Amino acid sequence: MPRPKIRRKVCCLPRINEFHPVGGNIYPREAVIVSVDEYETIRLIDNEGMSQAECSGYMNIARTTVQQIYDCARKKIARALVEGLPIRIEGGAYLLCDGTEDHCGRRGCRKHRHGNMHRKTREEIV
Ligand SMILES: [Zn+2]
Repeated sequence: MPRPKIRRKVCCLPRINEFHPVGGNIYPREAVIVSVDEYETIRLIDNEGMSQAECSGYMNIARTTVQQIYDCARKKIARALVEGLPIRIEGGAYLLCDGTEDHCGRRGCRKHRHGNMHRKTREEIV
């Protein structure tokens, strides 16, 4: 029986999903695809300053897995910067946080809940 793919908890979806180079020789080139769980490790470790151990607790995955995902994300972003490629953030095996974990409400998760509240409000108006 195949093992079910482990779902990585993500507290915050990216505000912008696509990045394009400006200037130089602009011609359509294949984008580097960064998955949402890869993006979350960059956000937590590089932007929020978490250690890989803290990040593993936050995303409910093993530390070795965090290291793999993080290394992969860094390589992709480095390639895009060096080769001037667009970056697109999409896909991946993740579970969007419902904001009920103890640590939620800090480090980005609140934004996600605000997003839900806005969506609900709009539905109520319509
Ligand atoms: Zn959360």
